[in-house]
Amino acid sequence: MELSDLLSQLNAKAFGQSKWIAKCPAHEDRRPSLTISEGDDGRILLHCFAGCGIDAITASLGIEVHELFPKALVGSRPSRSPFTPRDVLKVLSFEATVVLVAARTMRNGKTLSPEDAARLSTAVGRISEGLEVAA
Ligand SMILES: [Zn+2]
Repeated sequence: MELSDLLSQLNAKAFGQSKWIAKCPAHEDRRPSLTISEGDDGRILLHCFAGCGIDAITASLGIEVHELFPKALVGSRPSRSPFTPRDVLKVLSFEATVVLVAARTMRNGKTLSPEDAARLSTAVGRISEGLEVAA
């Protein structure tokens, strides 16, 4: 929700810099006791000096609490890696085996086929990525 829409919906009056005051929709408010301001990250901050909670205020406005947040912030909670450390270790263990097989092949004086050399590169790449994936 845009701050300007909220301000007009509440018929808010400006006081001070980037601060507004309005009658709280969540209680019988004779004198305006709801302050509205904007957080540094763009979220709309509401505070009722009579003590109404944010849930009661937004419910009275017919909006959800998350609508007070700028769209970019909604759903931007730090996402967890879909891989557990155990998943990563399983992959690393397998890739280490690929490296071992390649090393044995070369120790026996054989040349890696182009396919095996490519697979070795993939293994090294996955091992390097393991740390980032698990982080
Ligand atoms: Zn209130």
